[in-house]
Amino acid sequence: MFRTTLTLTTLLATIPLHAADKAPPLPDYPVAQVADHTYVIHGPLEVPTAQNQGFMNNPAWVVTPGGVVVIDPGSSVQTGEMVLRAIRKQTDAPIIALLNTHVHGDHWLGNQAFTELNAQIPIYAHPRMIELVEQGTGHSWVDSMLRMTEGATAGTEVHGPTIAINDGDQVELGGWQFQFHHIGGAHTDNDVMIAVPEESLLFAGDNVSNGRLIRMDDGTFVGNVATLRQIAETLEVAHVVPGHGLSADETIITAYADLLERIYLKVKALRAEGLSDFEMKAQVVAELPEYQGWNDFDGGLGKLISLAYLEAEAREFE
Ligand SMILES: [Zn+2]
Repeated sequence: MFRTTLTLTTLLATIPLHAADKAPPLPDYPVAQVADHTYVIHGPLEVPTAQNQGFMNNPAWVVTPGGVVVIDPGSSVQTGEMVLRAIRKQTDAPIIALLNTHVHGDHWLGNQAFTELNAQIPIYAHPRMIELVEQGTGHSWVDSMLRMTEGATAGTEVHGPTIAINDGDQVELGGWQFQFHHIGGAHTDNDVMIAVPEESLLFAGDNVSNGRLIRMDDGTFVGNVATLRQIAETLEVAHVVPGHGLSADETIITAYADLLERIYLKVKALRAEGLSDFEMKAQVVAELPEYQGWNDFDGGLGKLISLAYLEAEAREFE
């Protein structure tokens, strides 16, 4: 009797619970063609919620002559599977590589859907991202996503990048060149922007956002602006895919650099006049008339002002 009970309990604890652990799939989202062979699913302009099931980035893929290269397949196994379904509606070509723009989990936890298909698929990222994931950052992101979505990303596991790419590296994937740019610390200390000359296109990651303020907790205003000024000066592309918001032409690079620069310089000037961060908002808003229609502009700006204030303070002693 004792033995039977034990066996039953063991079975219940392993098989059925594991299957039930995975949250339901995402609905299919519309796919936008942004260049001749490049597609993007522009995610909701929100933070992760139960309703959007954590999906709020811009997963993308390039159909090269030799197969499909996937960039930032989203925040969960469910998002990755949604991206995979969209690719499979278009083509049966092999999926040959994953590229991750930076360590924030909304961009890469969807890797899992592709590694479950092919455990050997190469996943490229900046070496610092690989290091951070090895140190456990991925697990923190899995936990945050679960919490923010109230369990809608359940079943997601850490499948981090495997191949390090540095600034200036060029990798041939499917017969086309993919060029990697990491000019310095920007949105994080591990961003890579990926240029695809064949498509005259840049995947900017979160170094560029279009239509939504995004977190700057792991980056610097000065670094992000410097990176964007340099890439705008040295690279000519017809299409830019931002980390969040709609893809467009290269003017969104400068528009985002201008936004960050104006916030930073105004905060720095007001700080020099003796104002505290919480006293500045109206004056900073007045500097940014073109951006006030951005999603959650009012809610997001206070946090950015505080971060700009701390950065200005830190740089005073450099
Ligand atoms: Zn990010």
